[in-house]
Amino acid sequence: MLPDLERLIRLQSVDSTADDARRRIGEAPGRVGALDSRLDAARAAVEAAKQALAENQTERRTLEKDCAVVQQRVTKYKDQLMEVKTNREYHAIQHEIETFTGEVQKVEGQILEKMMAHDELTVALKDAEAALARDIKALGDEKAAIEQEARDLAVVVEQMTAERAAIAATVEPRTLALFDTVYKRRQGIAVSKVTGGLCEACHVRVRPQVLNNLLMGQTLFQCESCQRILYAVATKPAESTGGAGAGDQESGTRGQDQPAADSSSS
Ligand SMILES: [Zn+2]
Repeated sequence: MLPDLERLIRLQSVDSTADDARRRIGEAPGRVGALDSRLDAARAAVEAAKQALAENQTERRTLEKDCAVVQQRVTKYKDQLMEVKTNREYHAIQHEIETFTGEVQKVEGQILEKMMAHDELTVALKDAEAALARDIKALGDEKAAIEQEARDLAVVVEQMTAERAAIAATVEPRTLALFDTVYKRRQGIAVSKVTGGLCEACHVRVRPQVLNNLLMGQTLFQCESCQRILYAVATKPAESTGGAGAGDQESGTRGQDQPAADSSSS
């Protein structure tokens, strides 16, 4: 294989790794923001539960005051009952007492409802606070992991940038320019392997003559369909593990004419 082609295969791997790292770094703020939103929602749930509990207490106090006022009236009428002179007056006051006693019972019922609701709201607040505490811990850990990942990836980008410069310095300038042009035009994949006679990137068949020339490794060829720079790996006759495929990834039988290319070049 042409030495420049081997370098381009490595360059493809380096650039892809750097691009992936940059993309992932770019996604980090959005991912952190989503975690913050979840935390905000958990905080809002606690606030809402507190608010509901406070309203319940306020309403209950109001009802208790109302109840006391009505109760006082009942007491007052009961006092008056002692002093009435006529039967008619007696019945009138008796009627008032009944009315206001009914009112007291009604308000007492409402107070009881508020007390029961208070118990439920207290449980709901405790649940919301527990959920918030869990989220603060879990989302905090997730956030720290994302931030750590972004820092690690920044190091990867630095390393890849340095490695790219080192490789680029050894590639013939016109070849490098071709690589860069195809890389930009073809979604970050400038180099494509030929497998089973097909360009792995666009799946269009490569003419046998081109494939032969590729294997002889005398010049660069671009895919006639997608323009990517092609490379092919000679299929070796059966050796140690049957040697069926050109792209054996698990075996350590890489021949000297096989590139150290990643399988990510498709
Ligand atoms: Zn192609």
